[in-house]
Amino acid sequence: MNYQSPISPGRSWYEDTAGPRPEYPALDGDRTCDVVIVGGGFTGLSAAAHLAKAGANVVLIEAHRFGDGASGRNGGQLGTGQRAWAEELEAEYGFARAKALFDLAEEAKAHLLEFAAVNNIEIDYMPGQMSVAHKQRYVDDYKAHAEIMANRFNYPHMTFMDAGETAERLGSAAYFGGTRDTGTGHIHPLKLVIGTAMVAAEAGAQLFEQTPSTGISSSGGKVRVTTPKGTITAEKCLIGVNAYGGTLEPVSAAHIMPIGSFIGATVPLGTDSKVLPGGEAVDDSRFVVRYFRKTRDGRLLFGGREIYAVNDPKDIHIHIRRQISELYPELKDVEITHGWGGYVGITVPRKPFVREVMPNVISAGGYSGHGVMLSNFFGKLYAETIAGNRDRLKLIEDLKIPPFPGGRRFRTPLLFLALNWFALRDRI
Ligand SMILES: Cc1cc2nc3c(=O)[nH]c(=O)nc-3n(C[C@H](O)[C@H](O)[C@H](O)COP(=O)(O)OP(=O)(O)OC[C@H]3O[C@@H](n4cnc5c(N)ncnc54)[C@H](O)[C@@H]3O)c2cc1C
Repeated sequence: MNYQSPISPGRSWYEDTAGPRPEYPALDGDRTCDVVIVGGGFTGLSAAAHLAKAGANVVLIEAHRFGDGASGRNGGQLGTGQRAWAEELEAEYGFARAKALFDLAEEAKAHLLEFAAVNNIEIDYMPGQMSVAHKQRYVDDYKAHAEIMANRFNYPHMTFMDAGETAERLGSAAYFGGTRDTGTGHIHPLKLVIGTAMVAAEAGAQLFEQTPSTGISSSGGKVRVTTPKGTITAEKCLIGVNAYGGTLEPVSAAHIMPIGSFIGATVPLGTDSKVLPGGEAVDDSRFVVRYFRKTRDGRLLFGGREIYAVNDPKDIHIHIRRQISELYPELKDVEITHGWGGYVGITVPRKPFVREVMPNVISAGGYSGHGVMLSNFFGKLYAETIAGNRDRLKLIEDLKIPPFPGGRRFRTPLLFLALNWFALRDRI
């Protein structure tokens, strides 16, 4: 059985700059608890911290080390709202639900920053995010979006940028316009992972690394999670394995598909560099999205999804440098010090997946590249659910998420074809 999650390729710049990263023991022996959590990314660790603080007896197991999935290796961009624009959600669900989903995401953003501040976790927050059009035909969409955000969703922090302002703020003439959002920003994600684990441990959660779950079952009102050296018996279970779950739990696996995304970090660019002088993060309108940002020490962290397999971290350096030079020709020979990848968990409609997959077992994931703030908040919402209030998690549970066509066997070739098509569309 393929329960063991793959390890992501390449050593990240985050690992070299996160500071001390405490190791947690592997589980050896049986345990009984109120809640067992499988997966030590943002979803699982945040749930563990909130549950333990509320007095629950919690056991969390992670197959590798905390943050070795997407949470310690991502682009660090918080974004605003859900992955789907609020107006798209309104078209599908009506204004009241779209607004509720938008407000939930705003709360998620505030929660992340507040959680870090209250618990003295230094996450290197830098404000500002821009979303930019790589084709002229998308510019009007961004313009309309900024207006809708301000006038309909009461979000005052987003403004439209014309081509001139976009070029100035990016230090690149490669884009045609976009939006600038001063109400969000970007972080060092691994620092948040490490800090959240420490908060959970201090609150009394029992945390285990190098402990893969080999199976999850639910019967007679009890959940049993097996591992190589012990079984955990609990009242409730949260599955937070997202894109890394393999075949551990079939319903989640049918709805959440892993796709690779890769990031390269350059050397510090120096104070005279014209790249992103305001320090904002950026994502673009490509379906195979490019996302990049400056770090506090002046590096460019540049990410992109790739449709081909990357076997060697050095391949990441080559692909990322090529993409960087398309936007910043002056960086065509820039030294890339780190190249790494990870798996993003996507769903068919690019909305998060939360479902009770068997009695007393809830699975959460599929944040579709928008999980930094949402996954942390869903951990809190799960804790709320255990405390007896499921209303807010229900907002997400009620979203329509169909399984991927083709089953686990054929969906990857289908996705490959689809990504090829979208990559072609991005270019024309
Ligand atoms: C390269 C990259 C860039 C990204 N950029 C952004 C971004 O800029 N903004 C944004 O909002 N989102 C981004 N994302 C997505 C974001 O990182 C995720 O949505 C979020 O981290 C999901 O957290 P999680 O805890 O649900 O999953 P993960 O962090 O993936 O954690 C799941 C954990 O479960 C463990 N696991 C799996 N199977 C088992 C098992 N059988 N037993 C025990 N443990 C198991 C894994 O080892 C893993 O640690 C990016 C993702 C990647 C990969």
